[in-house]
Amino acid sequence: MAKNTIVCSFCGQDKRNAKMLIAGHSAHICDVCVAEAYKIVTVESNTTIKEEAKAALSVLKPEAIKKYLDEYIIGQDQAKKIMSVAVYNHFKRISNPKHILEKEEIEIEKSNIILVGETGTGKTLMARTIAKLLNVPFCIADATVLTEAGYVGEDVESVLSRLLQAADFDVPSAERGIVFIDEIDKIARKGDNASITRDVSGEGVQQGLLKLLEGSAVNVPPQGGRKHPEQKMIQVNTKNILFICGGAFDGIEKIIARRMNTQAIGFSASVNAQEVDRANLLQYIIPQDLKNFGLIPELIGRLPITTYMNSLNEKTLRRILVEPKNALIKQYQSLFKIDGIDLKFEDPVYDLIVKKAIEHKLGARGLRGICEAIMLDLMYEIPSQKNPPKTFTVTLEYAQQKLSKANLGSLMAA
Ligand code: ADP
Repeated sequence: MAKNTIVCSFCGQDKRNAKMLIAGHSAHICDVCVAEAYKIVTVESNTTIKEEAKAALSVLKPEAIKKYLDEYIIGQDQAKKIMSVAVYNHFKRISNPKHILEKEEIEIEKSNIILVGETGTGKTLMARTIAKLLNVPFCIADATVLTEAGYVGEDVESVLSRLLQAADFDVPSAERGIVFIDEIDKIARKGDNASITRDVSGEGVQQGLLKLLEGSAVNVPPQGGRKHPEQKMIQVNTKNILFICGGAFDGIEKIIARRMNTQAIGFSASVNAQEVDRANLLQYIIPQDLKNFGLIPELIGRLPITTYMNSLNEKTLRRILVEPKNALIKQYQSLFKIDGIDLKFEDPVYDLIVKKAIEHKLGARGLRGICEAIMLDLMYEIPSQKNPPKTFTVTLEYAQQKLSKANLGSLMAA
């Protein structure tokens, strides 16, 4: 070989015989070796994903998942239990070697979930906490936006654009992410008799979502919005993406009550109507109720797990304020600690905050606005004080005074 001949440093191919030779720092690589190397990288990274999923599964049994959720979410025991099992099964499904399942000819269905509960009861928090635990990309999409954009279609894929963005456009990573679709109830067909009063746009979006939920290769516009011909699409397979849909389903209690009444009449005396907890009918929700509310059966079929979130009473709200790992009160205390101040609250201050949150009917979401109203002046003034106090106790009187001045309405809307 002549001394100055350039060759591929990997396979030794002569520049003259190679289609392309890419120069590096002090080496060269030919097109064939680039292709080979790419293949190796792809196989390796897929294997790593499977290994990671298996590792997560070996540590996280449903009970452990629930314990983790307990640290962040107060109450909602039934929902947490159902979610823990669903997530465990989902991971089992995606990490199990295909040949085992194929040999048994059993196809484990995807466990997409529907969470029914009033606003501010922790539906988003639940989905977000699970994504954090599993360390997978997570995004929130609002079903009402899809309705506004037009009735069918292509815009539905923008849900996946967000997931891609959350995954830094790493497609294999996005393909095992979690998508939370909020306000799914707002795309229901209107009216009890679905076949007569049709809300076409709602149904159109439901049809569009079906395509995402059922597990297929979908062309996604990377920047979201509408698809247009010049935009380069990214193909995302939704087979292993877990979809969690949430909604308040206003008025579904009536549908549940009606169904239960007719059942009780038609049934034997073994169904004891007295045992029904009428104050909390959501706990009896079944997929049929969602259908009667206006979700199309095909969509319900793709969301096989239905569960509910309890509305939050005073006791739960008070616990939410102080107990979770990142409880609001703990957050303020950490902020002050950075300035070297030990922040304390008189116990009745918590009751006051909870009382106000209930007045504004925003569930736990209202807590933050109220706390901000109480804490704002303090957070504004204390850092510039020459000799800030070592401790500061928020007394009931102080909190009342700050709240009486604050425009809570605007804080809540924020
Ligand atoms: P939803 O999605 O049901 O409307 P979110 O999950 O957005 O409600 O809850 C709003 C906020 O209220 C959350 O950020 C969280 O801080 C708090 N929150 C709601 N429910 C709970 C709960 N059960 N435990 C702890 N915090 C909660």
